[in-house]
Amino acid sequence: MNKRDHEIIPLKLGMTHCYLIRGGADYVMVDAGPPNAFKKFRQKLEQQSIDPAKIKLIIITHMHFDHVGSLPGICRLTGAKSAMHYLDRELVEKGKIIMPGGIGAWGKVLTPFLWTIKPVVSRAIGPVPIDHGLDDKHFSLEGYRIHGKIIHTPGHTAGSVSLFLESGDAFVGDLAMSGFPRVTGPGPFVLGDDLEAMKRSWQLLLDEGARQIYPAHGKPFDANVFIKYLNA
Ligand SMILES: [Zn+2]
Ligand SMILES: [Zn+2]
Repeated sequence: MNKRDHEIIPLKLGMTHCYLIRGGADYVMVDAGPPNAFKKFRQKLEQQSIDPAKIKLIIITHMHFDHVGSLPGICRLTGAKSAMHYLDRELVEKGKIIMPGGIGAWGKVLTPFLWTIKPVVSRAIGPVPIDHGLDDKHFSLEGYRIHGKIIHTPGHTAGSVSLFLESGDAFVGDLAMSGFPRVTGPGPFVLGDDLEAMKRSWQLLLDEGARQIYPAHGKPFDANVFIKYLNA
């Protein structure tokens, strides 16, 4: 455990922190950014001299537009396969844009804003085909020479997943966050379906041995933050 034999490359696409994880010569990518982020993606790979064809799998943590928006272009360039939990996959493949509800007073202030951008987002994203449907069983990444797995971590959406590495690094999508629109440091995402389910997912990651949390919005933070919230 805790052996870090992979490389983590942050790849910010628009508002979304995506990540590349290199195991051996190939990469697995976490999330694909908002619509219209494809050019930025290609630029960033060029800047870092990463061969797009080395990206073999793209794990979409959940269905929201800022995670799946540039997936079709990224898949075309890289030839990577995409994977997503079946509960969120169906909506994405039908081209349905679902906006999250607000958690707490601040989240409820933000939701009307999401409804105003929904028509724009809906025009920018059509149905997005996904290659692999994930279920509730852990999905091993050993085939990609990465000591880790994909875990179903519902709460933000019913089909949210996290990528957990044996080193204790956990890529959680929107299960937690540390940047805007949160204003008081790392903690729960202020938008989502079910805060109690989110907390159960945090506990699951802690039980697995999570040490460092990589959210899609904001900087990485210590997993002990979860303990503080779970004990509150
Ligand atoms: Zn989200
Ligand atoms: Zn997001």
